[in-house]
Amino acid sequence: MYGAIEAGGTKFVLAVGNEKGDILDKQVIPTEHPTITIPKVINFFKNKGIKKLGLGSFGPIDINEESNTYGQLQKTPKNDWVDYPLGETIKIALNVPIKIDTDVNVAAMAEAKWGNAIDVNTCFYMTVGTGIGAGAYVHGQTLKGLSHPEMGHIKVRRHPEDTYVGSCPYHKDCLEGIASGPSLEKRWGKKGNELANDTKVWEIEAYYLAQALTNYIYILSPERIIIGGGVMNQQQLLPLIRKRVIEMLNGYVSSPYLTGKEIDQYIVSPGLTDEAGIKGALYLAINS
Ligand code: ADP
Ligand code: ZN
Repeated sequence: MYGAIEAGGTKFVLAVGNEKGDILDKQVIPTEHPTITIPKVINFFKNKGIKKLGLGSFGPIDINEESNTYGQLQKTPKNDWVDYPLGETIKIALNVPIKIDTDVNVAAMAEAKWGNAIDVNTCFYMTVGTGIGAGAYVHGQTLKGLSHPEMGHIKVRRHPEDTYVGSCPYHKDCLEGIASGPSLEKRWGKKGNELANDTKVWEIEAYYLAQALTNYIYILSPERIIIGGGVMNQQQLLPLIRKRVIEMLNGYVSSPYLTGKEIDQYIVSPGLTDEAGIKGALYLAINS
């Protein structure tokens, strides 16, 4: 048995699974103060006989296995969790080895193993939800280095009709600051799911997300792009993003996936629907 945790800003998903990636037991708990949330995590896994644990976490978090602060959260906007030793606390309490990566890196890995990118060697995964984050699985490894990528915080060119100041506590109008679920709500005064029929909303949203994807395509050249997260529940958004990406690249990258209808197979929804993160955490445990 393997344990898996997807630690998010609003909820923690906890699961026990086998080496084939089947989830056999699962529980979702809200993200509150660590003194409330972590005992619930420990309680879930206690006596379940897990031999390893995988953790896909929100960040920023130290994912360098050589570091003595491995698994410690860093400057997260979630104040209660700043500098919290998430990995170490769980490891000590349950007395099992723990492998840690970002939520989006493990989601990219799960899509490559069991989802919509099993036929390629490089998979890029972006979530557009409470925050915006992206990860990548490249020839058998998730993408990391000095720290982990922070692709949600890039700068994008402003839409000429958009005057919203931006909601990122660090950069104001970075991508996350102007295109996340909460930023949609602050700009338009309504929740994303109440804005379905307003075409201007989704035109501007697609303009920002397509710019970001264009940059990621230039930098990483992934073989597949997968976009998940609550905001992508707007079914009209994905086709708008694809159209804009083709326009912005303007034929510069010579691939049928980036010039014509084949883009429908290149920028896609998660094959694992909302389980990419937790299945990625499980895969991390199985393969550590
Ligand atoms: P999280 O990022 O916290 O893991 P989600 O991926 O579900 O969670 O994203 C939550 C965000 O997505 C919220 O800001 C919410 O308003 C937005 N959202 C959820 N459903 C929809 C929808 N149908 N249309 C537009 N936005 C939505
Ligand atoms: Zn930012």
